[in-house]
Amino acid sequence: MVVPAEHALHEAIQVSPLILSDDVRRQKIENRVAKMRFSAATARKIQDVFISEMNKGIHQQPSSLQMENTYIPELLDGTEEGLYLALDLGGTNFRVVLLELAHGAPIREEVKRYYIGSELRVGSAIPLFDHLAESVSDFVISQGLQDVELPLGFTFSFPMIQHSLDVGVLVTWTKTFNCPDAVNKDAVRLLREALDRRGDTKVKVLAVLNDTTGTLVQGSTLDHNTAVGLILGTGSNACYLERADRVEHWETERHGEREVIIDIEWGAFGDNGVLDFIKTDFDRENDANSLIVNSFTFEKYIAGKYLGEVVRVILVKLTKEKLLFVGDSTSDSLLTPGNLTTDLVSHIEQDSLDGGDSNTKEILAKFGIIPDEDDIRIVQYVCEVASNRAALLVSICLASLIDRIDKEQVTIAVDGSLYKHHPRLEGWMKQYISLLCTPGRKFKLIHAEDGSGKGAALVSAIAHRLKKRLQ
Ligand code: ADP
Ligand code: MG
Repeated sequence: MVVPAEHALHEAIQVSPLILSDDVRRQKIENRVAKMRFSAATARKIQDVFISEMNKGIHQQPSSLQMENTYIPELLDGTEEGLYLALDLGGTNFRVVLLELAHGAPIREEVKRYYIGSELRVGSAIPLFDHLAESVSDFVISQGLQDVELPLGFTFSFPMIQHSLDVGVLVTWTKTFNCPDAVNKDAVRLLREALDRRGDTKVKVLAVLNDTTGTLVQGSTLDHNTAVGLILGTGSNACYLERADRVEHWETERHGEREVIIDIEWGAFGDNGVLDFIKTDFDRENDANSLIVNSFTFEKYIAGKYLGEVVRVILVKLTKEKLLFVGDSTSDSLLTPGNLTTDLVSHIEQDSLDGGDSNTKEILAKFGIIPDEDDIRIVQYVCEVASNRAALLVSICLASLIDRIDKEQVTIAVDGSLYKHHPRLEGWMKQYISLLCTPGRKFKLIHAEDGSGKGAALVSAIAHRLKKRLQ
């Protein structure tokens, strides 16, 4: 018997029907992408796997979820005052941020972006960190704050192992960075040494974190029920407030902490094969076309860097199987990996919402394709199927977190351009999370922009307060 809640879930996860002039073709296309669509039972199975991987990770058993301790045991308490800095490395830009706090809330923000030349991104780490330190100095001096002791939160958005709030050992560089001599070194120490070599400011590096953690803390200034931080941008990750007694990996002395932020590192969910039952041939090809194959399984299903590529791979396969753009000569541009970016998926999704086709036509024209009515419907259908799968997967994990967090109301703070700009993700997520978590649980999704900047400065304020208390 199907229980009512599962029936509601089953209904909610249906995508709009594909309506084509040729019913045989419609059926073939639906069959071809059927594995991209989950039944309610599959959604529950993924949820069980996620919960099991979280439990294993937190108990330090083999798991695809790292469940890293961030050593941030509390949020802002309203007593934080004064000036705090952040250094944000690893996102699209490298920035220095100054935040002024009154009663634990930001009242002024100054931001400056700096450029990192490609020659600094590869080679020895010393010139890179000297450049970071030089930028911090330039900013601090331009603000006339060279003689002021300034706590700094360092957003270092690369895989690291944290030994304490201010020790983060680089596991591997990613994106466009590769300075091999920094691997296995503490990024905070490299930054402190570079600041010391200059000796022209009184900046104190108090915390190292990633953008997800910054987003949770930033969100908590907007909504005090915030207990989850979520990134849906180029990549995807989440963190949440865990009960401290559940956390085994804790290298520093404990001081009666009740909670701590755990960085799930869910981009790698499934890297050990636990999600293989949902992997499609499209996902295999998306993975094969990626920079680092056989890694970041979950991220490749959902994040901005990959969603467009999933759509492109499906469209190419349907074309090759003569189900799409029949009669049109194959577009070389569409055959090139990476050419269909996720912002284009958003634009096509907007057409589906509006019942229009102007964005879809315009985008296909850029690929040199002149579609007929059926082609347009198929392209829109594929964008919906891929986007909907991403929304459902993220919702499955978020619902598990809401159930895990022992609070009456859980607010999820979200940052990232995919979430911000995709016209349907947020709506789907609200609907799916409520159907996937225990009935009656209350949750909210809020936008918390710039966790990697503002959030990091806030974390340095928390670190500063903790340090004073423990001295
Ligand atoms: P980062 O993740 O580098 O900090 P963002 O949060 O701005 O930066 O995310 C940028 C990513 O968001 C891009 O790589 C792209 O994949 C995705 N993106 C950008 N614009 C859109 C859009 N209109 N719709 C969906 N995704 C988008
Ligand atoms: Mg970001």
